[in-house]
Amino acid sequence: MKLQSLRLTDFRNHADTILEPCEDINLLLGKNAQGKTNLLESIYLLSRGQSFRARRDAELIRFGCDAAQLDAKLSDGKRDCMLSIRLGARRQTLLNGIRQKRASDAAGLFHVVLFRPEDLGLVRGASSQRRRFLDTALSQLRPLYGELVNEYTRLHAHIVRILRDREPAMLGTLDDFYYRLCCVGARMIPYRASFCTALTELTEKYHADISGGEALSVRYETVSTVRDLSASPTELGRALWEHYIAHKEASLRSGNVLTGPHRDDLVFTIDGQNAREYASQGQVRTAALACKLAEREIFTRADRTPPVLLLDDVLSELDAARRAYVLRGITGGQVFITACDVKPGEVAARRVFTISGGRVCRQEGET
Ligand code: ATP
Ligand code: MG
Repeated sequence: MKLQSLRLTDFRNHADTILEPCEDINLLLGKNAQGKTNLLESIYLLSRGQSFRARRDAELIRFGCDAAQLDAKLSDGKRDCMLSIRLGARRQTLLNGIRQKRASDAAGLFHVVLFRPEDLGLVRGASSQRRRFLDTALSQLRPLYGELVNEYTRLHAHIVRILRDREPAMLGTLDDFYYRLCCVGARMIPYRASFCTALTELTEKYHADISGGEALSVRYETVSTVRDLSASPTELGRALWEHYIAHKEASLRSGNVLTGPHRDDLVFTIDGQNAREYASQGQVRTAALACKLAEREIFTRADRTPPVLLLDDVLSELDAARRAYVLRGITGGQVFITACDVKPGEVAARRVFTISGGRVCRQEGET
């Protein structure tokens, strides 16, 4: 699905904005605080049913207004559809004029992959950010995986309570709950391992392309007693249990769940050095972007259509060759790139929109 038109009414600082993007590269240019990220946020909201930065719908409604409205026309070349979200006292989602029961019902009608400056944390930040990235992408691709993550999270929270409260009766159930945690974890690992195999190969390829040959490598790390990622869930469960038993006393002493796939990680190295400690700003940005392009390709293979790619402020800190890759080298699918400015001759986008004061004040490119 591609976005054919978008109308925002009283969404963030957009009082009444109409955007008619092209089917490939769209560049959203503008000074700081004009409403570029707000536009990407609206597209993300239409796709996922939630914002990537607001906790409450009220934050998305223009200051002083009671409601906001997003109307999008989408097309996959064969069929068109109209998706609308109204944000107010209650949220309403309409697909082709038909009200959806739950706000999430229309989520997933089209996929988006978003890069934003916070994603530099994929390389440099805490491991929880990398696990969130894996879990979010995999839950969209494999709904069963999402259910496993929910079950794992529930069991993990329960075990944390047992360890913290230290009630003797509850401590007696610790092994039972941990056994269940191992069983669910053992079913999650194969999903993560196979996703990471594809992610690793593609991320390494994209990183080399963008950087002109730097050797990035990405490795999936799970519990150390898991020696064979292709083992059966029964064997994986046994390996997780073995690790738990070895660390049970330490878990009881510390009050923390010290072992399990909730501590899995992805390790990035560039030319043999750990990227978290040694990579430059531009290298970190390139690796994070490569990761997102890899995610986009994995979704394209699964859906047979590329997701809409949203690149927020991706160009800063990149040298001319890396900027050229972003502006010219990303092909096959609809892309939205925000930037404060581009150098003359750099633009390869078919449509360039200038955003100012919450309005599209200029549109260049063929229509
Ligand atoms: P930058 O280049 O700095 O990232 P930007 O063009 O991406 O800038 P946005 O993040 O889209 O800027 O935000 C533009 C403005 O929207 C901000 O100045 C903010 O104050 C304003 N804004 C955010 N929420 C609302 C709202 N609910 N109502 C009105 N204005 C809002
Ligand atoms: Mg912005």
